[in-house]
Amino acid sequence: MIKGAFLLILFSASYSVALQSDSALSASDRNLEIPRGYVLVGDMILPEENILNDNGSTVKGFKEKRVELWPNGILPIQFSNGLTPQQEQMVVEACQEMGEFADIQCVEKNSSHKDYVFLKSVDSRSCGSSLLGREGGRQTLSIRCWRKRTIQHELMHAFGVSHHHNRPDRDDHIVILWNNLKFLSRFSYVKVSNSATSHILSYYDYESIMHYDSRSGSRNGQVVMFKKGFTPKTGYIRQTDVMSIGDHFFLYSLYGGENPVR
Ligand SMILES: [Zn+2]
Repeated sequence: MIKGAFLLILFSASYSVALQSDSALSASDRNLEIPRGYVLVGDMILPEENILNDNGSTVKGFKEKRVELWPNGILPIQFSNGLTPQQEQMVVEACQEMGEFADIQCVEKNSSHKDYVFLKSVDSRSCGSSLLGREGGRQTLSIRCWRKRTIQHELMHAFGVSHHHNRPDRDDHIVILWNNLKFLSRFSYVKVSNSATSHILSYYDYESIMHYDSRSGSRNGQVVMFKKGFTPKTGYIRQTDVMSIGDHFFLYSLYGGENPVR
């Protein structure tokens, strides 16, 4: 495979222009350090094996790559030299809050940590980016929008949590208006497999910090997705600033701790 050349795949009719290629990535996207064989789905960096067709099968018949968790819930982080002490503190505090119910912890990387997150500030189209779960070795997590919501969203990805609107069963819960999406943003709405984690969460959480806003990626200011069974107006989904109980429950389900739903 040519380095940096990503999926050029025609999915079903609804995904008819869902494609990504190196030329489609902006210069700023290249700051995200997307590994070879991986694709950018919104702000998630995923192995192409985990991109699904509309019918739920993996593209090209690939076998799904399992999402790996962090042993004992410990996420070692190495901060980039370019970060300010305030930015580092924001990450520490955001992570502490995530561990309110779940047995997770962000620690500073030391020489005993072989797998770790390298966290840096970037200029990119998206507010941040992260791989899903533990990849092995050094993996980059990037932040452009320095606010708690974005930091926690990207850390959730690093801990192994995907978006709801990319779930294989999302069509049971949301309606997507493909024609209102920017060309490149269509790829943000592919379905992705999340074989390690998707079975744990049985309900679809519109309040999740892992759900995009109804206008995310819109080319014309119109709604691009809304709650199924409602209208675009009544079923509007707002991006939330705080983690939902469902988000805490998901982390608890993956890593143990104190069940927040009791
Ligand atoms: Zn995301």
